[in-house]
Amino acid sequence: MNTRILDCSEENLLYAAGIIKDGGVVAFPTETVYGLGANALDAEAVKKIFAAKGRPADNPLIVHISDLSMIEKIAAEVPPTAYKLAERFWPGPLTMIMPKSELIPSVTSGGLDTVGIRFPSHPAARRLIELSGLPIAAPSANLSGSPSPTNAKRVFDDMNGRIPALIDGGESEVGLESTVLCFDGGGVRILRPGGITPEMLSEVCRVTVDRGVLNELEEGAVARSPGMKYRHYAPRAKVIILRGSAESFSEYIKNNAADGDWCLLFDGSESVGDVPYICYGSSPDEQAHRLFESLRELDARGAKRVFARCPGTEGVGLAVYNRILRAAGFCVTDLEVVK
Ligand code: AMP
Ligand code: MG
Repeated sequence: MNTRILDCSEENLLYAAGIIKDGGVVAFPTETVYGLGANALDAEAVKKIFAAKGRPADNPLIVHISDLSMIEKIAAEVPPTAYKLAERFWPGPLTMIMPKSELIPSVTSGGLDTVGIRFPSHPAARRLIELSGLPIAAPSANLSGSPSPTNAKRVFDDMNGRIPALIDGGESEVGLESTVLCFDGGGVRILRPGGITPEMLSEVCRVTVDRGVLNELEEGAVARSPGMKYRHYAPRAKVIILRGSAESFSEYIKNNAADGDWCLLFDGSESVGDVPYICYGSSPDEQAHRLFESLRELDARGAKRVFARCPGTEGVGLAVYNRILRAAGFCVTDLEVVK
């Protein structure tokens, strides 16, 4: 099977919607990262997503809708807070977990009795869902474990030969996956941080951030957000996060860098001598937008070990830190302590 790369024309979206209606899988752009979509109501179609990605069967898929009324068909019960959040943040990078209806097969929900629902804002994603007339289950369009793809080339790198078509919508705007939350009394608990930040959510309701967002799962503990338990978002290179100022970073690199080492910097003003580097941005938004592409680029350049500047955790920085922490397998060196 050769994977066709198609632009976002109405004709191509109709063709892609046809594949979905026939029980097939297509990759498509969203504002977060690229998704790998199939009919969320068709267990056989959804199994093809798991096969294409090599995804563990207990890792649930997010179901994408293009109209608020679809929520009532796929959720058994919609908490009142969900409507408030939908009004404020949908369409957009927010996934809400609710009890699932019987229409959602257990493969889609990874065996759970809940379902994560999202209404994306990307026009091609919305149109694809509308034209297929179905809720679309879609995880990120990467091979399981790799950094999520934020452009069509990276989807092609991972999925060529595995799916019939890929819709090219350019670079993803946010660059990290959606915020995932569940309901907790009248408030919400963030299970995976994303483009909709705790600060933004707290304008609508009480917000707690799950311990699993910044901490490694203890042995034997059950992950509330199953995706967070796997080695994730990781390039082949070993990533080490160095927490501290630009000066202490430079000092550490000067004393420790060896052949095959690369640096992942904020803006390149950090001095790292002859050590090769790429930058992922000085603001949290830029870092979110560039992190996954930077990790893939480091692999493409043959990096063996990567020393990364540590992002802050304000706003969307929390999501950046959550992803880079997993890419690094929780390996963080505190430079101010080392000194
Ligand atoms: P991805 O599709 O790669 O963005 O991953 C989706 C992630 O959303 C999963 O790995 C889970 O961590 C989370 N998720 C989706 N549905 C549920 C659910 N029903 N309960 C808890 N977490 C969920
Ligand atoms: Mg993913």
